[in-house]
Amino acid sequence: MAIRVHDTMKRQVVPLETRDPGRAGIYSCGLTVYNYAHVGNMRSLIWFDFIRTYLAYRGLNVTFVMNYTDVDDKIIERAKVEGITPEAVTAKYTKAFEDDMVALGGRMPDVVPRATGHIGDMIEAIQGLIDKGFAYESDHNVWFAVEKFGPYGKLSGRSLEDMRAGERIEPHPSKHHPLDFSLWKAAKEGEPAWDSPWGPGRPGWHIECSVMAVKYLGMGFDIHGGGSDLIFPHHENEIAQAEALYGTEPFARYWLHAGMVQMEAEKMSKSLGNVVLARDVLERYPGESVRYWMLQSSYRSQVVFSESALNDANQSYERWRTFKQAAAHALGDEMPAAPEPLLRPTDDELGPTGYVQSFIDALDDDFNSAEAFAAIHELVREGNKRIEPAQRGDAGAREELVEMTTAFLELTGVLGMRFTVEESDSELIAGLVEAMLDLRERARARKDFAEADAIRDKLTELGVVIEDTAAGARWRVGQGVVGVD
Ligand SMILES: [Zn+2]
Repeated sequence: MAIRVHDTMKRQVVPLETRDPGRAGIYSCGLTVYNYAHVGNMRSLIWFDFIRTYLAYRGLNVTFVMNYTDVDDKIIERAKVEGITPEAVTAKYTKAFEDDMVALGGRMPDVVPRATGHIGDMIEAIQGLIDKGFAYESDHNVWFAVEKFGPYGKLSGRSLEDMRAGERIEPHPSKHHPLDFSLWKAAKEGEPAWDSPWGPGRPGWHIECSVMAVKYLGMGFDIHGGGSDLIFPHHENEIAQAEALYGTEPFARYWLHAGMVQMEAEKMSKSLGNVVLARDVLERYPGESVRYWMLQSSYRSQVVFSESALNDANQSYERWRTFKQAAAHALGDEMPAAPEPLLRPTDDELGPTGYVQSFIDALDDDFNSAEAFAAIHELVREGNKRIEPAQRGDAGAREELVEMTTAFLELTGVLGMRFTVEESDSELIAGLVEAMLDLRERARARKDFAEADAIRDKLTELGVVIEDTAAGARWRVGQGVVGVD
């Protein structure tokens, strides 16, 4: 296997060599559950879910961990705004996120640890950092001393001086160095708090990821993912905490960062208020079309959110869906089933069509989805040419169409697309169109041409294109061939 990934730390594409042969551990920073997820958050998480699926398809035994940050200033603020408890806030938005994940065809990670379930582990880690001289207590707060960790800045490639000049630094009277970051925050009146050796309080944001990633995947696990906005300070701090505490490196072997989703000229971010919520998009487009939009360009690229981009993705997705329907219609009982489980661990037996090989070559190369999608579109173009001859009973065309449809179902299955919900809709549509065409035929038989034309006009108005042929009426919806009566 020759999968290559772009490692943010090494700043280049390098071969993926996992710590344990045949296994891969992936950790992705999850959400702070204080609001509905925006499409930028969801794109990043859908991408890491897809990377996990793809690595499993290539034969690795994958463990995927994603955390929920369920204690944070933003949650406390939100609880005040909504007049409910912080626990009610996190329960509400965790459920909303899981619904969005399902709607987008994502699977939940293998382990989904919550910060509040690991307070004891975090206290232990913070005490360990104090004992080793990397952290200090001041006024019931505990800070990580960045100057004590020599390689601080190695992920973002910046020195302490650069960071000091470039970042908005939170001033605090108890810090030794302006870039020292919080490990433990002293409790304020009315906020959730836990007992600790430094008095009641709660953990800072960064420590949970170091502690939970190592707890579930061990030091030196394979892939750490997240949005590129997390590189500094969050991921830099995760590295400092874990490598200082455990005294070994690396914390993670590869750092993969997803590009941001932009709106107009700005990064989509809740604090800027220019966000589009995933659930609002999902009200207007089928989940698999939105998934198509999210996965069609490389995880690393910056993507612009726009209605026209979503419409384009929706139309491209429709071409795939229509192909599947047309193939099913043409092949009848010979229509292949989607393969389960999806597995291509070796490059042998990739089938005669070459599309599977192109798809794998593209995705092995740092998950180049644009090329992988192009391979499927090529397959669909070629497959469409076989629909009509297959329908006429041409044995060669049928055989090729079966092979192509098998490859199509495998590849779209890896992308998490099953076309299932829409399929039942389209069966219903096909049934209704055919029933109307029957009525039209009967009207014509009794020479009621006004009625026959009225039925045809109604169908045309609904976007059903009808062609009368010697073999009967053929029909399709919009651009794609859907059925032949
Ligand atoms: Zn994190």
